[in-house]
This record gives sequence, structure tokens and C-alpha cells, in this order.
Amino acid sequence: MRKKIVAGNWKMNKTFEQADELMSDIMDQLEQTELNRDVQLIVCPPFPYLELCTDYANDSYFAVGAQNVSDQERGAYTGEVSAEMLKSFELVDYCIVGHSERRSYYGETDAIVAAKVNRLLAAEITPIVCCGEVLAEREAGKQFDVVRRQITDGLFHLDADLFKGIVIAYEPVWAIGTGKTATPDQAQEIHAFIRQLICEKYGNEIAQDTTILYGGSCKPSNAKELFANPDVDGGLIGGASLKADEFIAIAKAF
Ligand code: PEP
Repeated sequence: MRKKIVAGNWKMNKTFEQADELMSDIMDQLEQTELNRDVQLIVCPPFPYLELCTDYANDSYFAVGAQNVSDQERGAYTGEVSAEMLKSFELVDYCIVGHSERRSYYGETDAIVAAKVNRLLAAEITPIVCCGEVLAEREAGKQFDVVRRQITDGLFHLDADLFKGIVIAYEPVWAIGTGKTATPDQAQEIHAFIRQLICEKYGNEIAQDTTILYGGSCKPSNAKELFANPDVDGGLIGGASLKADEFIAIAKAF
């Protein structure tokens, strides 16, 4: 059975003290709440707070992820963080790749996404690979073409064994941080499409085992109906992951 995941992407938010407070609030919430233990919780803080979060993760069952990684191995790349460095934190098990903000503000292409995925897999870190169309593409009915290209060019160079180590997040860009959410039917339609693409490339068993998350203004009020879809295996959560009660309420939607 494929893994269910609720992952929080803190983006560039919180001071160190605020990050500590958020983690402590999450721990309090976890103590008071009965969560479905089949759901993997992940927090993805900014790089400087990875150690803080892995310290908390030590005594808990949630995991820690980074928000980005370099496409280069090591060396003179000022400001970059390598997969090997992430690996040396030991408890950093996931990393977001190809988020639409990285694609649009930092020119992250499918080829760069593919290179980052390779670095992460070599370091035994699970990439959470984002895909999704912008509003104009959705309005032009191009969402399937866009997502097919992102998945094919970013991931389908992998052999089947490596592909098994991938988590995908479908994030319609028009729904990120806008308060607009894809309807459950819109989410299911694309998730089923992605699973079908994987099936055509790697076969049904791998397609059925691949976790595909939804992201885009997911919150406690809509998580249940989104996660009820057969091909939606959880969420990548931005804004709502910055408040412990909302983040845990979303995890409880399973
Ligand atoms: C995101 O950026 O991955 C995201 C889903 O953000 P939000 O939940 O704020 O829309």
C-alpha cells in the first residue's frame, strides 16, 4: 500500500525562535491528538532550522525535509546546499524539488529538476517532486500537457528501481497561496492522469505504489474531501503548515 503523507512547506517564514515555538506547538498537538499512524507527517523548514527540527523529530514519528537542494555535487557554488550535506543531517529524509516558486523565480527547468532528483536519490533522500500548471495554461486546457512534460522530463529518465523512491506533488499554481483550491474532482482528474502516465512508463504495480500529494490552499476545511479521492494520497501544505493546530487538523483529515 502506498504511503499517505502530509508535508508542511514553511517556505521563507519564521525566525529561529518562532520556528522553535511552532515545533513545540506541533509536539503538544501530537501529544493531545490521536493521528492515523499510517500517515507520514513531514516538516520542511528553511535550511538554518533543519537541525532544530531533526532534534524534535528524534523523539517523534514525523520526518524532516528540506525545501531545495543544489543540482551540483560540491565545490564553488556559493550559497548552495548539496544533497550530501542534507544527508549528513541524518534525519533529513525528504526534499522538495521543482516547486513552482523555484521554477518561476529561480528559473528551475525540468532538466534542473531531473539533476536535483538524481543528486537526492544518490544521497538516499526522497525527492518530493512538484508539478502543476499556471492559470493561463489551465484556462487554455493545457494542464495535462504541462504536467506530462514536467513528469516526463523531470522523472522518466529514472530506471524503475530509482523511480520507486519518488513522491510527486501536484500543485496547480493558481491555487498556491491564493485561497483558491482545486475542486476534489479537478485534483482527482490530474492525479489519476499522473498515475496513468507512471503506469504506462513503469507498469501498474509501481504506479499504484507511488504517493501523489495535492498542494494548493489545502486547509482543515477542505482536506477531508480532497484526501477522500482515490488517487490523492495526502497534501503538500504551505500557509496552513505555519500553524500547528491547522497542520495537525489537516493530518487528521485521513
Ligand atoms: C505550496 O506552496 O506548496 C502550497 C501548497 O502553498 P499553500 O498551501 O499556501 O497554497
